[in-house]
Amino acid sequence: MNQAVALHPWNRPNHLSSEENQLTIDGVKAIDLIEQYGSPLYVYSENKLRQNAHDILSNFRRVHEKTRVCFASKACANIAVLKVFKDAGLSIEVNSGGEFFKACTAGYRPEDMVFNGVAKQYGELHEVIEAGIRAINVDSLSELQRILKVALSLNKRANVTLRIIPEIKGGASAGWETGTSESKFGMTREEQVFAIELINSHPDYLKMTGIHAHIGTQVNDISAYQAEANFLIDYAKEVRELLPYRLEHINLGGGYPKNYTSHQENLDTVAEHYKQNYRTCIDFNVLSEILIKPITNALGCDIEIIVEPGRSMVSDVAVMLTRIEAEKSRNQNPVYYLDAGYSVLFDIYNGWYFHMVNASRSDDTDTKLCRMVGPLCDSSDTYYDIEGEGRVKSLLKTESAFEAHQEVLEQVLVHQPNMRELPVNTQVGDVIALLDTGAYALEMMNEYCGRQASAAVLVDLNQDSRLIRRRAKYEDLLTYDVVCNSEGNSC
Ligand SMILES: *Cc1c(COP(=O)(O)O)cnc(C)c1O
Repeated sequence: MNQAVALHPWNRPNHLSSEENQLTIDGVKAIDLIEQYGSPLYVYSENKLRQNAHDILSNFRRVHEKTRVCFASKACANIAVLKVFKDAGLSIEVNSGGEFFKACTAGYRPEDMVFNGVAKQYGELHEVIEAGIRAINVDSLSELQRILKVALSLNKRANVTLRIIPEIKGGASAGWETGTSESKFGMTREEQVFAIELINSHPDYLKMTGIHAHIGTQVNDISAYQAEANFLIDYAKEVRELLPYRLEHINLGGGYPKNYTSHQENLDTVAEHYKQNYRTCIDFNVLSEILIKPITNALGCDIEIIVEPGRSMVSDVAVMLTRIEAEKSRNQNPVYYLDAGYSVLFDIYNGWYFHMVNASRSDDTDTKLCRMVGPLCDSSDTYYDIEGEGRVKSLLKTESAFEAHQEVLEQVLVHQPNMRELPVNTQVGDVIALLDTGAYALEMMNEYCGRQASAAVLVDLNQDSRLIRRRAKYEDLLTYDVVCNSEGNSC
């Protein structure tokens, strides 16, 4: 029942390849990195980071020169990554005082930052207004009142951009949608009228620099972007009538989708709904035409366009390496226990799909069904699969008489949620690579079950690796606990 798959269906030219049956990342053997830095290990690619920055900047600026790309740093706020992006010409989006602090540490200027969030605190607002941040994206009327208070106390003018609810459904599932009034984000048009009145009545302390919308994450429906562009064009025209000065920018948010599956050869084995979620290919060239162009055509070349991509800038820049520590057999299938679970890669807790390659045998075809799980004391610590599902579909295509038995076939052949195909010789000690793990990964690590957060390295343009995040130690587990000293003094 195994599909014949081409050798290296995961191959990514100039990034992931195979040498002597070993996975290489930017020319460096994955196994060598594990020997040097230990397991589990995130491997970031400087080349891919720069490529992604260049890709969005060149495509969007070809259509509109005044485009500013603010990397949504919650997707990966490692200082080394932030520095590469700064050097490559990106600005930055922060979501908290903590991210503002990291952005400053990486060398970004406040004029190159925008600040999002639904519950901004006085202290955070004080910090960013004092620094003269380019825009605070205001989420509610109560927040605007708070900003005014802080601006008055600092005797400074705050730059505010109002987040509007466009009532557009984006995002591959409901939990990922942020552009409707059912979500917790943004202001309604009516609320914005009050907001603009408040801004206009305090011109020395509040300046409305722009309007903002963000419709979700992994938004794979191209019509959602068309709707967003149309909505913002109309809304910008409305706002123009209400303001005594011109809007400086329109912020379109982020949410651009990335492909998480392996290459074309495996397409037939992927179920339709997963294809939509994970095998999307709306690239920046397409987005520049359907999202940027209509807006600048309608509103002119003067207006600055800001975008806030997170996931799409970093998902494919990192691979997570993890070693098989143990095995057992269940229902004639092997179960392999990896040293990385959802404490290291949190998205697997939510069933997110990451493609797996056996880095220790990367030339071997994947023919053995395996169950892959993490080390945590929790059943949801399992690597989910999607590529088994489509088998039923291809069987039905070859023999229509099977249709009557579709349900049974699915029960037998569909290996949701937890079967993977790996090389037949896969065994304890092998290193498994999870692809496309650069986004929302380092930021969401935790030390559940007393497990240490993973280290990360960057492979630079000379194919040299260096540590960009150290592995946590046992002592780190005590960092936040207040421990009494040996004399028994109170803490
Ligand atoms: C999270 C977030 C982004 C980035 O979203 P991605 O899906 O990672 O591109 C952009 N803008 C806002 C307001 C966000 O909350």
